[in-house]
Amino acid sequence: MREIYLNGRYMPLEEAKIPVLDRGFLFGDGVYEVIPVFDGRPFRLAQHMERLDNSLHSIRIGNPLELDDWERIFARLTFPTPDLDQMVYLQVTRGVDPIRNHLFAEGVAPTVFVMSWEAKPRDPAISSDGVAAVVLDDYRWQRCDIKSTALLGNVLLRQEAQDAGADEAILVRDGLVTEGSSTNAFAIQGGEILTPPKSNLLLRGVTRDLVLELAQEAGMPCAERQITRDELETADEVWICSSSREVQPVTRLDGKPVGEGVPGPLFGRIYGLFQDYKARLRSGDV
Ligand code: PLP
Repeated sequence: MREIYLNGRYMPLEEAKIPVLDRGFLFGDGVYEVIPVFDGRPFRLAQHMERLDNSLHSIRIGNPLELDDWERIFARLTFPTPDLDQMVYLQVTRGVDPIRNHLFAEGVAPTVFVMSWEAKPRDPAISSDGVAAVVLDDYRWQRCDIKSTALLGNVLLRQEAQDAGADEAILVRDGLVTEGSSTNAFAIQGGEILTPPKSNLLLRGVTRDLVLELAQEAGMPCAERQITRDELETADEVWICSSSREVQPVTRLDGKPVGEGVPGPLFGRIYGLFQDYKARLRSGDV
């Protein structure tokens, strides 16, 4: 039976219930994190918890738990195993109001929910053949830096990509790349690894930051700068990354090949560095 954490208690998933006046349900008024766990070790925990703090601060909710409490919950819901990766999902909403009202009510305790699941084994075809993406207009709101549970824009854009036969939508606002519907985006131009700078228009991905860090450590040229739609479409390589996908090569964009239409040489290097990092995390070296 799968166990979850809800408001201070552990219980089977089937028994977990949220009142219908929870603001997460009514307004999408909450934030979340997804944290990979490799062999019982959370991936970049400090960075995920810092982003949680930032998201909570942005929507004016105090962090309901101390770091120790969060860690205890994650440890209870995951287990060390070298053979499969797990994901922890946590969500904090503004809680259950006495009535439906846009304004925050006083003295309402946040709802805290944590669950975990086993990640699907990686499909080796993704790193050898790549994935397809389409370029779509980024019509989301202007606070995409908040990891909000209100994901309707992201959901619709991802579905539109799927309906077009692609795995991800890469989003463009005012002619500039922002990110994917649930990933960050990179374009390689003239040997330089480019990704849009942090701003209110994209989520600062923990995986994105690690990709940049690993590339810099390895002496690969990188820059956080705006990428135009034209630069994306003429890039030698395009990558997307997230906690669930890790780093993946985009080999078809709007039905056309990216570069040679196969994962490029820089992808091969970053993929190797990423796998090395995971191996170090599993053995407790990072
Ligand atoms: N951008 C969006 C919109 C996302 O939803 C996600 C992850 O879910 C990311 C970027 C990547 O973030 P991370 O690498 O922290 O998973």
